[in-house]
Amino acid sequence: MKYYSTNRQAPLATLHEAVVKGLASDKGLYMPEAIKPLPKEFFDEIENLSFQEIAYRVADAFFGEDVPADVLKHIVYDTLSFDAPAVRVTDTIYSLELFHGPTLAFKDVGARFMARLLGYFIRQEGQEQVNVLVATSGDTGSAVANGFLGVEGIHVYVLYPKGKVSEIQEKQFTTLGKNITAIEVDGVFDDCQALVKSAFMDKELNAHMKLTSANSINVARFLPQAFYYFYAYAQLKKLGKADQLVICVPSGNFGNITAGLFGKYMGLPVKRFIAANNRNDIFYNYLQTGIYSPKPSVATIANAMDVGDPSNFARVLDLYKESHAAIKADISGTTYTDEQIRKTVKQTYVETGYLLDPHGACGYRALSEGLQPGEVGVFLETAHPAKFLETVEGIIGDKVEIPAKLQEFMKGTKQSVPMTKEFADFKQYLLGQ
Ligand SMILES: *Cc1c(COP(=O)(O)O)cnc(C)c1O
Repeated sequence: MKYYSTNRQAPLATLHEAVVKGLASDKGLYMPEAIKPLPKEFFDEIENLSFQEIAYRVADAFFGEDVPADVLKHIVYDTLSFDAPAVRVTDTIYSLELFHGPTLAFKDVGARFMARLLGYFIRQEGQEQVNVLVATSGDTGSAVANGFLGVEGIHVYVLYPKGKVSEIQEKQFTTLGKNITAIEVDGVFDDCQALVKSAFMDKELNAHMKLTSANSINVARFLPQAFYYFYAYAQLKKLGKADQLVICVPSGNFGNITAGLFGKYMGLPVKRFIAANNRNDIFYNYLQTGIYSPKPSVATIANAMDVGDPSNFARVLDLYKESHAAIKADISGTTYTDEQIRKTVKQTYVETGYLLDPHGACGYRALSEGLQPGEVGVFLETAHPAKFLETVEGIIGDKVEIPAKLQEFMKGTKQSVPMTKEFADFKQYLLGQ
């Protein structure tokens, strides 16, 4: 399968090229040339299949032409070494818990898949080592580092701003060792990003070592997110609750929800989607007005959704052939203040016993306000509440149990390479590697 750029100026790319490049040369996002519908028989028996079996069928539709079946199956099964259960919150609202992976957030799925696919391409070509550079303000670094941990032929450098990430976030990428190196930059997130960008553009450095990114817009991180939408449907179908299914996605960069929309194109019987936003309401405003006007992001307690210019909006537009009416027919939007998010976490905990994280809270609230009679809603619970410990404990006035996986990270010893924000220093360091 070939991949085209949403800007239509760059040449078509193979899967391998699209994965290594990430962004197309015209700065567009890669899209698969075809989205293959899955046959009726698949949906007829989907409730009897496992998460891994379902995911493999979906993966085959995207990647089957480019990756041998046994390899692809292995990548999918290895990626999904954990479950994504749909947990009942009320009779009509279910939480699709995407926090059972190594870093307790949904980004584990895409990061693990991409790492394994890239690893396969490298081995297949007998290539030298590939080096992944990733700048992080917290969560991306942990998902990418853990996703790539132990994958042969790849070394990951995580650049993060000193003193600007929480202790638990820092531990998730500084304690791993092996093929993961944490670089602690004396600066802010933008400095880290600038160092990564300069590295990609530096001729001498690129001659010395093969560099690539693991950005969230990468097709190998983005497309696998479609897997769990099918699994959500399967679980609700088994309960006899999937006839009028509404899926609500707490959204920031809009990669997660766009993967769900791809699922709908493949025939997944979802009635409609809701994009739940925090105060960063760019997409919400677009739905109301038809005008897309990006603006600087504002900080909220659902900080992984603090995005002022969602990258994947280009993919949504492309998928719906730029039709505002068609987009509105499939997706509605909501936007919530921190105050509303707090209230939702607290009230849901008191009334149902279910503890939401601030992102999932936007999703739950949108469903509790917006479901029509006869509809059943699933929201994606994108991270474990313990990842936002102080915020959540502050809201509920109670201790939050920290999962064993998270506690394990806390026990590890931090190892990082101190770095200034000067590119010359970073370059010198990489040239020595
Ligand atoms: C990244 C993230 C989101 C937003 O997902 P997008 O694909 O960027 O829309 C929501 N919740 C959590 C916890 C995240 O880490």
